[in-house]
Order: sequence, then structure tokens, then C-alpha cells
Amino acid sequence: MDFTELGLRPEIVRAIAGYATPTSIQEKAIPVVLQRRDLIACAQTGTGKTAAFLLPILQQLSIGRPSLGPRALVITPTRELAAQIGDMTKRYGKHLNLRSAVVFGGVGIEPQKRKLAGGLDLLIATPGRLLDLISRKQASLNHIRTIVLDEADRMLDMGFLPDVRRILSVMPKKRQNLFFSATMPDEIESLIRRTSREPVMVEVARRATPVSSVTQVVHPVQTDRKKALLKAILKNRNMHRTLVFTRTKARANQLAKALQTSGHDATAIHSDKSQNARMRALAHFRDGKFDILIATDIAARGLDVEAISHVVNFELPDTPEDYIHRIGRTARAGGSGNAISLVSPQEHKKLAAIERLSKQSIKQEPVPGFLIATDASKIEPRRKLKRQTTTPSRRKLKRPKDSSFSRNGERQTLRAGRKNSHQSKRTGSRQERSFRDPHGPQSGSPD
Ligand code: AMP
Repeated sequence: MDFTELGLRPEIVRAIAGYATPTSIQEKAIPVVLQRRDLIACAQTGTGKTAAFLLPILQQLSIGRPSLGPRALVITPTRELAAQIGDMTKRYGKHLNLRSAVVFGGVGIEPQKRKLAGGLDLLIATPGRLLDLISRKQASLNHIRTIVLDEADRMLDMGFLPDVRRILSVMPKKRQNLFFSATMPDEIESLIRRTSREPVMVEVARRATPVSSVTQVVHPVQTDRKKALLKAILKNRNMHRTLVFTRTKARANQLAKALQTSGHDATAIHSDKSQNARMRALAHFRDGKFDILIATDIAARGLDVEAISHVVNFELPDTPEDYIHRIGRTARAGGSGNAISLVSPQEHKKLAAIERLSKQSIKQEPVPGFLIATDASKIEPRRKLKRQTTTPSRRKLKRPKDSSFSRNGERQTLRAGRKNSHQSKRTGSRQERSFRDPHGPQSGSPD
């Protein structure tokens, strides 16, 4: 199957000449979007999901008639992700004569107002800034025919759902709805039920499945030796583009300083940094000026940098799902990558939770010189991995009584994950947890 067979125009196929074949989500979603059907897509980041909605939307826009306001809207949770989708729009639409703009908070609103006033075909936005522009009557959504909710579950986690509902309420009812979400929490499920008509469901990988091309390893180490171990690893291995995760902003800053002092080109991104500083850091990581980027989970969400060779978990995340998201930054769209976790004895429960969720054991490799005194080879006796038959990630989306979900092609039952509803307050509870963390050096406020 190639992109032409999926129904894409030559101008678009030419723009993606670097992509040899469509990814699985692209094969499944592009024809559905071109048919103007509603879509629910469960796809992890790194699967090529952005092109899965952008390519057919650009095609629709290019054959439709221009209007005063944007005809398609992409709502996405983070500024970085919005900027990335904006970049991809330019790349994919370079042979089409379409106008697009990206709006997000943390930067001046005036240039964004001017762009909106100039007329647009496609608008890409984060929820808060878009609502702000709508309430100032600077963004008119009267002409929207297609809307994408990208990373819908993360929008819920970040508390954006009320904003999203308000945005949806000011748009024409007759429109195409495209939902992209790695998991299917209750709130997202009910939003989909209320807003979409006979959506086609596609799923490409069960949630919580690490991309199989990522080689994962755990290095057991005491907390106070992690920095030295990281330096040793960076020195001895060929790690040309490395993304390091910390749980807290303070730790990200400390680590960036420590690595800079020992001669590494490292920088940090987290939510305390200004938007411009974050964009600059990201740009320098992309162009190779920095080969090490240190990030918190929220700052790194959706981050798409090509050819990240290694992801290092300096600290394991509080939730096992975040581990999957983290390591998905490497091995993007068919490539291979490495995930290294520095795990202290105090983190063994988190490691066990990750292994349970991903249903696999991660290889442990103690590093000479950094062995743990009590037991050089194991962090903690492992509990036997049980097959979870009722794991939330395997729950099916209940069929609504009043409408039937259509099926299209292979395996389109939505076996999406579903988090507990209390997880919508995850950011908050995460913060509480970190303040209670007894392991001194790891404490601090997360992003
Ligand atoms: P996404 O899942 O949308 O974040 O995409 C992850 C990465 O895959 C991006 O760097 C895209 O440029 C790349 N990509 C998207 N589609 C393809 C494809 N068909 N072949 C190769 N790479 C792709």
C-alpha cells in the first residue's frame, strides 16, 4: 500500500517523498478522513498519527472553497505539540496553496490576532489560548468543517476538558470529528458519544505497549550515585541525541548544570521556563547544538525530535503510563532506539508497576563501579508477572444504545485503555506525592 493508493493527491505525496510507506494508523485513518467520516483513533505517539489526520485534512482543504475563517481546527494539549503540528502542516502542504496558523499561550497574543484576521484554512491551537481568542472575538469558528482533538486523554489529564467543551459548543454542529487518544478514560468516552456520529474506530497498538523496537535496560544504582553513573554512560556510549527525564523541574535544572559543568552540551525544558526559552532549547536540540535535553514529563509530552538515539530515565515516573510515553520518544515511526533507566532500590515498586503494565520484564544490567552494596545483581526480588485479564487498558468501549459504531477493515473494536476517573486530577495528586517522597534528593515540584 502506498500513499497514492490511499487516495492522496500527487502534491501531497510529493511532499512526503521521504516516507517510504504509510504507517498502520495512516493506512487505516486516511481513507476514513477522506470520506468525511467521524473517527476515533487509538494510537500511541510515534506511530505517525499526526500525518494520519493532517494529510487528508490538507487534501480536503485544497479541494474545498476558501472561506473567511478556518475550515479545519486541530486542538492539542501542549504548545510544543501545537508548534510541531504547525511545522508538519507547512512541510506536508508545501505544494498546496493553503494558509495555516498556530496559536498557543505563553507568547504575545497580538501576532496571533493578526494571523487570524488575515484569513486561514487551518488553525492549530491549544485550548486556553483559543478560548481567550474566541472570547475576544478574534477567532471565528463558524466555518469549521473538521475538528481534530489530538491527545484527548492528555487534555483531560491537564484539566483542559471544560475548555474543550466550550470550544466545541461554539462550532457548527455539522462537522467532521476526529479524536486521537492513546487511552479512553470515561470523560473522553462520554464526550465522544455526545459529539460524534457513527464514528469509525481504528486502533493500531494496545495502549501501554512499548514500541517493540526500543531496547530497554535498567541499571540498578543508589540515588546519590545516579549523576555519576549518567556521566559515565554518556562518556562511554555513543549517545548522539539523548533525552533525559527527571520527575521534577528542580532536578532537571540541577542535572543540566551538572552536565554542563562536566563539559556536555545539555539544556533543560520544563514549565517554569518561558515559552521562548523552551522553543529555543528544543530548536537547539533538534539542530544538534545540544546533544542532551533534560525534560520533565509534561514539558516533553508530544515532543517530536527525529533520531533521538537514547531516552534516559534519570528517575522513574510516578505513573507507569508515563514510562511508555517517555520511551516512545525514541524509535519514532519505524526507527530503533534505546531506553536506559537508572533505578534506585527505593524505586522498585515503580519498576514493578511498569513491568506489570507493559507485561514484560526489563533486562537489568548492573554497571561495574555502581553496584548496590546489598545485592549487586538485583534491585529487589521480582514478583511473578501475572497476566491481567481485567486490566483497564483492555476494556472495551461500551456500545451506545442509540447509535451503532461502524467497523472498517481489520480490528476496529476500540480496546482502548481507560483510566480511573480520578486520574483527571493526576497532575495534582502527582504533586502531592512528590512532596511526600521520602527520598530526599528526588523531592521537588514536578512540572
Ligand atoms: P507522530 O506519531 O505523528 O508524532 O509521528 C512520529 C514521527 O514519524 C514524525 O517524526 C514523522 O515525521 C514520522 N512519520 C510519520 N509518518 C511516517 C511514515 N509514513 N514513514 C516514516 N516516518 C513517518
